Formats: sequence, C-alpha cells, structure tokens
Amino acid sequence: MSTSSINQVRVRIAPSPTGALHIGTARAALFNYLYARAQDGVFVLRIEDTDVERSDPKFEKNIIEGLRWLDILWDEGPIDAMLNENSTSSQTTNHKLPTTNSHGPYRQSERGATYRAYIQKLLDSGRAFYCFHSEKELLEERDNLMAMKRPVLHLCEFRTMEAAEAQIAKETKPDCIIRFKTPPGRVIQFRDLIRGDVCFESDLLGDFSIAKNNDTPLYNFAVIVDDEEMAISHVIRGEDHISNTPKQILLIEALGFKTPQYAHLPLILGPDRSKLSKRHGATSVDEYRKAGYLPEALFNFIALLGWNPGSDREIYSRDEIVAHFSLERVQKSGAVFDVGKLDWMNGEYIRRKSATELIELCLPFLEERGFIKKGGDRNYLEKIVLLEQPRMKKLSEIGERTDFFFREPKYDAPLLRWKGMTDNDVRESLQKSKQLLGALGMGVVESKNIEKIFFEAIGERDKGTLLWPLRVALTGKKASPGPFEIIEIMGIDAALKCIDRALGKLTT
Ligand code: GLU
Repeated sequence: MSTSSINQVRVRIAPSPTGALHIGTARAALFNYLYARAQDGVFVLRIEDTDVERSDPKFEKNIIEGLRWLDILWDEGPIDAMLNENSTSSQTTNHKLPTTNSHGPYRQSERGATYRAYIQKLLDSGRAFYCFHSEKELLEERDNLMAMKRPVLHLCEFRTMEAAEAQIAKETKPDCIIRFKTPPGRVIQFRDLIRGDVCFESDLLGDFSIAKNNDTPLYNFAVIVDDEEMAISHVIRGEDHISNTPKQILLIEALGFKTPQYAHLPLILGPDRSKLSKRHGATSVDEYRKAGYLPEALFNFIALLGWNPGSDREIYSRDEIVAHFSLERVQKSGAVFDVGKLDWMNGEYIRRKSATELIELCLPFLEERGFIKKGGDRNYLEKIVLLEQPRMKKLSEIGERTDFFFREPKYDAPLLRWKGMTDNDVRESLQKSKQLLGALGMGVVESKNIEKIFFEAIGERDKGTLLWPLRVALTGKKASPGPFEIIEIMGIDAALKCIDRALGKLTT
C-alpha cells in the first residue's frame, strides 16, 4: 500500500495504448502535470493496457514519445518507458529518472495479482457475483429496453445466487463475467473540483460488470484499484469519464478505499461545438508534430483548452503556465479547438526562434522533400529560413514556400502577366529586368541596392509592370517574398537564368 505522506498530492495520467496520443489525453496529462507542479506533488504515468486485444506496444511508444516531445514529464511510471533512447524528442535529455518507483508496476498488464486479490475480496464479501447470461441474452435485453425507451441497465438475477451454487455453475459456463452488486436506492454524490456537486442515482447504474473473469479486470475496477494502490489523491480527467465516477465510488466504498478528489475537465470541441473528432481534422499529437508545429506552441495552446489564466494574453511561457495554473480557473463549458489560433500561436513561436534553432527545426522538412542533403550549405539555408521566418505558421511550410531556391519553379506563362499585360509587354519587362540585373555584376548584391536601381527605372509607373513578371520568373508563385530579397540570396547569375527560362515560356 501507499508509502506517500497522507497529504501529498499525487495525480496520474492513465492512457490506454489503443491509439496514438490524442490531443484530449495530452491536455489531461498537461493539467495533471501542472497541478502536480503547483502543489509540489507527484505526477504518475500509468499504462492502462488491460484491453489486450486493442492495446499495442506501438501505441504505448507513441504516447510516451508524444508526452516527452511536449515536455510533459512524469515523476513515476514504467521505468523502461523512460530509458527509450530512440525518442523523437529533442528535449528528453532533461528528463530525470524518477527517484522512486515504489507504487509500481505502472502497466496494468503487470498488475494481475493485485486485481485478482481484490476481485476475490468483493466476491467473498458478496459485493460482486458471477453473471451467467450469454452475450446474446444481454444484447436482446438491451434492445428490448431501448425499444421500450427505458434506461439501458442490467439488473442481474444472478446477484442472489449462493456462492457454492455459482461455483458449480462456473464449471459448465466458464466464460461468465463478474458484476458488482449495485446497492438499490442510493444517491451517489461527490464534489467535483471543476463542476461542483454532482449526483447520480444508483438505480440507474445496474449491476455493472467489473471483470471478464478473475484474471481480467475491466476499466472501472482496475482504475480504482490502481488509484488506491498508487495513492492517487486527485483524479483529473476528461468529462467523458464523469458517468464512470459513481460506479467507481461504489467500488471504492465496497473495498474500503479512500475516495480521491475528482476534477472533470471540459470536453474539447471542434469549431461546430461537437466533440473533437477526426471529422474536424488531426486529433493526435503526432500529426501536429509531423505538420510542423512546435512543442512549446502546442503546450501553450492545449494549456488554454479549458484553462483561463485570467487575462487576454495568449502567449505564455512554460514557466508562466506552471507558475499560474490552478484548477479554480478551469472552465466547465466545452473548450473549442481553434486550429486557426494554433497556427497563429505556432507562427509566434517560430518568430521567437534564433536562426540556428530554426534551421535545425526546418532541416527535416527540407530533407524530406529532397531539397538538401545532410550537411548542405548552412549559410545559404540560414538566409532562406530567415527570409520565411516572418511569415511561416508551420515548419512544414518551409519546403513549399522556398522550393524555387532548390529547383526550377513550375508555372505557366500567363502567371507572368501583370494586370492586362500582353506576352509582348511581359517580354519587354523581363528584358528590362535582365538588363538592370546584368549591370550589377555577378557577385552578391544587397537587396537594397537592387531595389534602388529598379525603383529608379520604374519611376512613376506601376511597380507591378516590372516587379510582378520578375518575381514570378524567380518563384513561379502568386505570393512570395519580394524579388530583391530573393535575388540577394540566390545571386544575380541564378536570377538571370530564371528570367531566361521565363522568356523561353513566352510564345511569340
Ligand atoms: N484509460 C482511461 C482513458 O484513457 C483513463 C481514464 C481515467 O483517467 O480514469 O481514458
């Protein structure tokens, strides 16, 4: 049992490795982590892998890597999960190994003996019983109840079967399940730290199942055993679990455990205010990492999914979030996941990066497109990356925005035309640009010098007549940084080649 001091705050994130780390799980992990830091408590990672069919070590790895990438680090958890060197995170070196693992093991699949003992305890005390209904019977019952518009719950006739009789029945029907004998007529009340007083009636719970058999506990049962054994003081989790809480409280009472404090976090909603799902776009942390979001930006963004630090500011450093977090400022109503806001925030974080950091971050995205080889010209790369830094929202944009620095731009001749220009006008314009650039020599020329001679040549005329065909010739794009900055980076020689290619596209 617990070796922690009575009043120590101990919280946990208990992901099931049945899918990649979801934004909702990352948010729950973050709020637990922040609460632990605020209370000088302990943050535990527990892997809820009792569902053998759906659990997969590859998802456990994904969850652990995602949490490490976000720098949401736990104090106690599966020891081997912390030693994984092949992590995608660049920040894992900061992750101190826990000083104690006294409440482990932290994977449910390794805790079988503990569950077995408590299941037996409930069976022995008559608080749980074997149910011999077949799946078919239970489904029929459910369909009938639904047809009659009655609450779908199972009041099991086997709840009164004598233990000796049940033992005999088990011989012939070994695949029975174990249910809790829910007490009738009870009001189960608890004070949720976010939602206030919450009440449920036991009559609406039915005799719910707690284990598939003596060795295979189900979620509601395993969770309360683990929370007790791991001395969890506060259960902070998504609101979708609130309907499980009365069942868990009844089990806690039946086993004489200590009831933790509950805090149910508001649902995360899509822009249409329905629960966030794949329909709304990416839902896993991994997808955001691959799309070029920065972990600091996602950390900041998910901290504000339901928590309000009390000002209109949106950008908070990690330390500020840690220093200011409190459950009192977590809202009850759903938190809308606004990807536009995340993009804006990510852009803000990109702008705060030094050139060296940003190159490092962009490299994989440029390599992925085959634009650069490892150890390419860093000086050139730095200029390109800095040119885009003021505009970028996601790291993944770097390749698309700067492809013309690495390969011939692809575009059709009509794009070269500025407002009402004919091909002939375009030709003249490009030839003028060629002449102006040619006069500058072949070395590196600063953009402001290029700008000067072009502006002199344009005089009072519409700038677009000269600059649009030139910019399209260089980039092949409708939108890009200005042509002078681009020429400064690629050099006069490369720019002249681009102009020649553009001239070659014109038909007459
Ligand atoms: N394994 C559960 C989940 O991933 C944990 C719920 C809880 O925190 O109690 O949703």
